[in-house]
Amino acid sequence: MPNTSSNTPLHDPTGGTVPGATEIKTTTCYMCACRCGIRVHLRDGEIRYIDGNPEHPLNQGVICAKGSSGIMKQKSPARLTRPLRRIAGRDRGESAFEEISWEEAFALLEKRLAHIRATDPKRFALFTGRDQMQALTGLFARQFGTPNYAAHGGFCSVNMAAGMIYTIGGSFWEFGGPDLERAKLFVMLGTAEDHHSNPMKVALSKFKRSGGRFISINPIRTGYSAIADEWIPIRPGTDGALLLALIHELIQDDRIDHEFLKKFSNSPDLVCLDDSAENGLFLRDPQREAVNEDLPQNKYAWDQVRNVPVQRETDQTEHFALTGEFVMPAGPHHGKRVATAFELLRREVEACTPEWAGSITGISPSRIRLLAKELAHAAFEQAFELPIAWTDAWGGHHDAVIGRPVAFHAMRGLAAHSNGFQTVRALAILMSLLGTIDRPGGFRHKAPYPRQTPPRVRNVSDETQIKPNTPLGAAPLGFPARPEDLCVNANGQPIRLDKAFSWEHPLSAHGLMHNVITNAVHQDPYAIDTLMIFMANMAWNSTMNTTSIRALLNAKDAEGNFKIPFLVVCDAFDSEMVSFADLVLPDTTYLERHDCMSILDRPISEFDGPVDAVRVPIVPPQGECKPFQEVLIELASRLKFPAFTTADGGRKFKDYPDFIVHYETAPGSGIGFLSGWRGPNGDQSLRGEPNPKQWEMYASNNCVHHYEMPIEHHYMRNWNRGYMKFAKEMGLRQKEDPIQIAIYSEILQHFRQSASGQRPGRQPPDHLRSRVATYFNPLPFWYAPLEYGATALADYPLNAVTQRPMAMYHSWDSQNAWLRQIHSHNYLFINPITAKNAGIEDGGWLWVESQWGKVRCMGRTSEAVEPGTVWTWNAIGKSDGAWHLQSGADEARKGFLLNHLISEELPLEGTGRISNSDPITGQAGWYDVRVRIRPAAGDEPEITYPQSHTPSTTAATSTPTELAYFAGSLK
Ligand code: SF4
Repeated sequence: MPNTSSNTPLHDPTGGTVPGATEIKTTTCYMCACRCGIRVHLRDGEIRYIDGNPEHPLNQGVICAKGSSGIMKQKSPARLTRPLRRIAGRDRGESAFEEISWEEAFALLEKRLAHIRATDPKRFALFTGRDQMQALTGLFARQFGTPNYAAHGGFCSVNMAAGMIYTIGGSFWEFGGPDLERAKLFVMLGTAEDHHSNPMKVALSKFKRSGGRFISINPIRTGYSAIADEWIPIRPGTDGALLLALIHELIQDDRIDHEFLKKFSNSPDLVCLDDSAENGLFLRDPQREAVNEDLPQNKYAWDQVRNVPVQRETDQTEHFALTGEFVMPAGPHHGKRVATAFELLRREVEACTPEWAGSITGISPSRIRLLAKELAHAAFEQAFELPIAWTDAWGGHHDAVIGRPVAFHAMRGLAAHSNGFQTVRALAILMSLLGTIDRPGGFRHKAPYPRQTPPRVRNVSDETQIKPNTPLGAAPLGFPARPEDLCVNANGQPIRLDKAFSWEHPLSAHGLMHNVITNAVHQDPYAIDTLMIFMANMAWNSTMNTTSIRALLNAKDAEGNFKIPFLVVCDAFDSEMVSFADLVLPDTTYLERHDCMSILDRPISEFDGPVDAVRVPIVPPQGECKPFQEVLIELASRLKFPAFTTADGGRKFKDYPDFIVHYETAPGSGIGFLSGWRGPNGDQSLRGEPNPKQWEMYASNNCVHHYEMPIEHHYMRNWNRGYMKFAKEMGLRQKEDPIQIAIYSEILQHFRQSASGQRPGRQPPDHLRSRVATYFNPLPFWYAPLEYGATALADYPLNAVTQRPMAMYHSWDSQNAWLRQIHSHNYLFINPITAKNAGIEDGGWLWVESQWGKVRCMGRTSEAVEPGTVWTWNAIGKSDGAWHLQSGADEARKGFLLNHLISEELPLEGTGRISNSDPITGQAGWYDVRVRIRPAAGDEPEITYPQSHTPSTTAATSTPTELAYFAGSLK
C-alpha cells in the first residue's frame, strides 16, 4: 500500500518517477458543453490523468469534477463498440441485437436513404441531442433534401436564444455574456447550478474578489446562487412579471438611458395606431429606400422641438420624443394617429406595478422597488468611460465608450416555460433601458454575433423547396420574419414533422425535437420512414412523458409493422434509447476523434474576438467505433450529395478531417468550418484558402484559435461601423447595416395582424387565430404558463422543476465510476414548511403527482428552495440495467425522473392536442408542471416508481481494464 500520510505526491503524472513513456496531449473537453481546454496525460499510450490547460482562453487551466473524470468515460463498460442490428422479430426495447459490419450498416443505410431521397425526402428525419456539430448535421439534412432536422435547442433554451436575438441581435452563453471584469452589479436569473460552468466560475470568483455585488433570482439556491450576496427566491414561471415591474419602475422614475434608446433602439419610431392595414406597424416614408427588407430604416420619429415628424435616421436624435401620441401632418400619412414605440411600452407596463408583480412572483413590492433602484444606481451613478474611439454606423465619431456596469445572465429557468419568449424579451428590453448592450460592464456580444434582429436565415417555407434527389431550397432551420416565412403548405398545415415554423409555433428557430416521436407515431402531419437520432436519450431523460414515449417507440399498426418503420440510433454508450434502435451506430468518445467548435456553428468566442477550437484524437477508437462525423461524410458521399461530390461524380472528401479543411461555404469564399491558420501557408485568419496543415496547426496551438480584434471593434458592435465592415468582410454577417434594438417587435405584429385578419397573405387556421393574436404581442407581457389553464391549480399547488447537477452532464455521467461516488441517486428537495404541511419527513419516501402521472421517491427538506417549489436533479435516475449499471443499482432503485410527470402535449380546442410548448417558439415547457406531494405508506416498497428494465446490449460493448488508483500498479 502507498503511504497516504506522506507528503510525497501519490501520483505525479508529469514526473519521471513512474515507469513507461509519458506524454501530454491537448484537446477540448466534452464532459459538458462548455468546451474547456484540457491536457491529457498518457503513459505508454494509455490515459492516466486529465487536467485543465492553463494556456486555454476559456478555462485558463481550471477543470471541474466532470472534466477530470473523462478518463472513466473511456473505461465505461457501457461503451458500444460495434454496429448492431435488431434481430428480426424481436421487439424494440429488448436490446436484442446482432453484430454487423460497418459495410453492412452503410450498405443498408445507403439503400434505404437513397430510396427515400429519390421519392419523398421528408420521410427521413434527423434529430440530434447536445452535439457540437450542428453546422455539419444541418448541412447533411439540407443536402439530403429533408426539412425534418433539428438539434436539442427546442427542448433546451430556444426561448433564451430567440427572445434575445429577435430583440438585441445576440444572446447569452456562446453568443454573448456578462462583462464581469467591469461590472459592479451582477444579476443572475434562472440559471442552473453550473451553466457555462468553468468560465462562469472563473469570472464570478474574480468579480466577487474585486468587490462586485451578486444577486441571484431563482426558486432554488444552489450552485452559483449559493455564493450570491443575496438570493431572491421567486416562483417558477413568474420572472416575466418581475422584469416588467422593474421596467415599470425605471420608466416611472425616469431612470433610463435616453440617449441610447433614441439613437440605438426603435423606441422613438412612430407606430400607426389607426384601425387599418398599418395598425401596429411603423409608418414609413414612401420616398426613401429601405436599407433592408425586414427592418427598413425609412421610419419616422417626432421632433419634439419643432413638433413635426422627421426622418428617423438622418435627423438629430437628441430632439426625438421618446413618449407621446401625435397626428401626422399633411403628407403621405396625413391625419394618421401615431405614438412612439417607447410610449406603447410605457402603456403596456403601466399596470405592472411592484404590487402586481409581488402577488405573482412572491417577492415583496419593496424589494422589487429597491432592486430597480440598485440597477439604475449601477448603470448611471457608477457609469464610467473607456478612452476607446469608435465611429458609429452613421459616421458619428465618439472619443470613448460608456460603461454601464450592471450585468445579467439568465438561462433555462426563464426559457423552459411556455411564457419564456416574452419573459426573455422583457429581460432584453430591461437591459436596453439601462443602456447595457455591448458596453463595458454590461452584456457583451461574442462573434459571430451580433446579427440582425433576426438574422437573415430563412427556413423552408414552401413545399416546392422540397424535391426528390435535390438539396432543400432553403435552410431546414431559420428565423422567420413574417408569415410568408412559415413552413406551411397551401392549406396552412405544417410541412415539418415536428410542426416547427407552423402557426402552432411560428418562430421555432430550433425545432421541436420533443414532439418528433409522438408526431411520427400518430402520423401527424404525415408518416415518415426513417428516424435517425444522434446522442439524445429520447427513451428516457430527454423526453417528456417517458413511459408513454417508450411505448410509442414500440407501437405497431394492425399488420404488426412499427409505426416508425426504421429507427437509427448513434451513440457512444448503451443508453435506454439504444435498446429501441433497429440499427445502432457506435460513436467514439470525445477523446477518440476529430471535432470542431466551428465559427459556423457555436464557437467559443471571447468578447474581444472570434475563437474556435478543435478536438484531435488522443487515443484510437475502441473496437469499431466510428465518429458520427465520419458516418455523415460517408453517407453524404455515397448518396452523392452535390456538396460532397466532384464535378465528374467522384467523392469529394476523403474523410471528416479532409472535409473540414477543404469545405467552403461557397466556392472560393475562403470561409470554412475553421477560422484559424487559413491560406496555403496558414498565415491568414477567418478567411483564406484551405490549408492542408490546418489540423496540425490547431493541434500545436492548444487546439484553439483566438483572433483578437483591434480595441475599437470591442464595443457597441450593433452600430460600430468599423466592426460591421470587418464582420461582413469575414463572413460573420451578410450586410453591414446597423442592428437596431427592437423595443417594439414589428415582426411579432405581422403575425398578430394576420391572426386578426388585418393582413393579406397567409392566414392561420381559425382555431389558432386567437392564440396567435394573443401571444404575438409586439411588446413584452406576462401570462401564466399555458399548462396552468389545463390544471386544477388548487389540487396541484406546487411547481416542480429540475436542473442538472454540477457533477454530471445529463445522462452521460451517471454511469461514470468516479462521478457516481458523488451521487448515485436523487431526492426531491422540499422546503421544510411545505414538507411539514404535507406530513413528509426529511429522508422519507413520498409520492409526487401531477395530472399526467406520478412518481415515488425520497425527499429531503431544504431551506434553499422557495416553499411553492419542489425540485430534483435530472437524469440521475436510470432504467434498471441500462448503461451497464448492475441490476438493482441505486440509479434505478432510488433514482427517479420527474419527466414521468410532464406531458409533451396539452389539450387544445379545435384539434384536441398541441405541443406543451411556448406558443411563439415551441420551447418545451419543462418547468410548467404543477404537482402535489403526500407521504408514501409505511408498507410500500422503498424503491422509486415507476420501475422499468433495459437489458444490456452485451454483445458489442467494451470490457474495460480497470485503472488502479496508484501509479505503477496498472492492471
Ligand atoms: S466545465 Fe465542462 S468542458 Fe469544462 S472541464 Fe468541466 S466538464 Fe469539461
